[in-house]
Amino acid sequence: MTDSFDVLVIGAGPGGYVAAIRCAQLGLNTACIDNQINHKGEPALGGTCLNVGCIPSKALLESTEQYHKLIHSFPAHGIKTAEASVDVAIMQKRKESIVEGLTSGIAQLFKANNVTAVHGFGRLTMDNTVNVLDESGKITRTLMARHIILAPGSMPSHLPNIPFDHEFVVDSTGALNFEKVPGRLGVIGAGVIGLELGSVWSRLGSEVTLLEALDDFLALADHQIASEAKRQFAKQGMNIRLGAKVSKLSKSKGGLKIHFTEKGKESSIEVDRVIVAIGRRPATEGVVSADSGVSVDERDFILVDDECRTNVPNVWAIGDAVRGPMLAHKSSEEGMAVAERIAGGKLHVDLGIVPWVIYTSPEIAWVGQTEKEVKEAGTDIRVGSFPFAATGRARAMEEPVGFVKMIADAGTDQLLGIHMIGPHVSELVNECVLAMEYQASSEDLARTIHAHPSLSEAIHEAALAVDKRAIHRAN
Ligand code: FAD
Ligand code: AMP
Repeated sequence: MTDSFDVLVIGAGPGGYVAAIRCAQLGLNTACIDNQINHKGEPALGGTCLNVGCIPSKALLESTEQYHKLIHSFPAHGIKTAEASVDVAIMQKRKESIVEGLTSGIAQLFKANNVTAVHGFGRLTMDNTVNVLDESGKITRTLMARHIILAPGSMPSHLPNIPFDHEFVVDSTGALNFEKVPGRLGVIGAGVIGLELGSVWSRLGSEVTLLEALDDFLALADHQIASEAKRQFAKQGMNIRLGAKVSKLSKSKGGLKIHFTEKGKESSIEVDRVIVAIGRRPATEGVVSADSGVSVDERDFILVDDECRTNVPNVWAIGDAVRGPMLAHKSSEEGMAVAERIAGGKLHVDLGIVPWVIYTSPEIAWVGQTEKEVKEAGTDIRVGSFPFAATGRARAMEEPVGFVKMIADAGTDQLLGIHMIGPHVSELVNECVLAMEYQASSEDLARTIHAHPSLSEAIHEAALAVDKRAIHRAN
């Protein structure tokens, strides 16, 4: 087997595998090194996203949402069941088979595109040389390439006083693998991952408490969307405590005690299991050796310019390991862009219009700036919003919850941010990304014909509302 390539990619997550496939499509002799193994101990491509992130979480969110609907919204449709029950083992098996199907699909795509897959831990040393290490840390191969793409991704952050025991105290990976529904579940961190995993187990009957250090709920989202989300989650029975900074954990008679300070006061709650979901950090330890010369910042992010170039010529870095949102589609887009640049082309990634989605129920999605960010920048704006309850489709679906909020520049009418909470907004937001990619105005969306009845009419009406001419609500 050749040990010299045009391109070597370290990491086969959505950043690395997409970069590798695109490089190969562009005629570059490419290898991709990855060290992920699945629950059977076999190499599994696809990184965090396919193995322990986006895909397994969405599989469980879908299963549990169906169950929740069966109990809570089917009766309104006149559909009755004698007794609903859940088999967690079958639910988990379904999740695993989805993951296996997709990860083996990447292996097939590598074969079809002539990407060489190498299993092991890749470490960049001097002169574009990468050592491949086995689990014991022994060098098994040495590879060279004209270009190196670093895509090692990220790993869960942990709290110093709260070590994982991988059974009762778990990270997101452990929380995807519970074999039975915890009675009382404490979630530390009410960010995207904490809310999604809290929702999964809450829908199955866990009594869920989320402890969030910040005083603001979902500080990244638009404040109106965040407060509607908080109201909806409270209605579902999730207990969200803000300004609750967790410090330690102790054993109690009935389970575990989480200790935290809340508005300056010491407090605690008792739970059966704990999910630590306080964010993720770059998985860069050991990926670049000191003699590679690649600069890493104090938080372990690999330093790159706007085009994902590191400070070392022909060494690139993408995805969760570099600045910008830790999202799969952002990693993939950077992977494609770097492949094009290596092959001599150009592709720009606009980090200002990366869509965000939280797959709770209702779903939350946005693209662009929040009202607070735009106002802080001193821009005059016009805002239009429209509730899903005023669309026939959401009512027919028995999901008349949430709204779309559109922010446009008051002078030019260019769209600056579109925020939504409601049914299927993970799909609806992409129309808005496209509009912003083309620097559309709210008038452009207002003049676009949207099918009736459809959820996307809420976007159309929100655009009309920017100019105070929505039809199906008073302006
Ligand atoms: P990763 O996917 O982390 O892949 C990196 C790969 O490189 C891994 O396989 C790792 O083992 C391997 N690796 C690391 N170092 C080395 C080395 N030295 N040698 C060889 N291999 C190495 N994002 C979304 O956009 N949508 C979602 O719905 C979503 N849901 C999520 C749910 C959960 C529970 C979690 C944990 C994350 C979720 N994310 C989601 C985030 C998403 O998973 C990441 O943003 C994405 O996986 C980052 O892609 P990446 O290619 O940069 O890195
Ligand atoms: P995200 O970055 O979306 O994964 O969210 C992680 C959340 O965890 C953030 O909202 C943090 O404020 C929160 N967080 C971090 N440390 C703590 C802590 N010690 N106690 C409670 N919440 C925390």
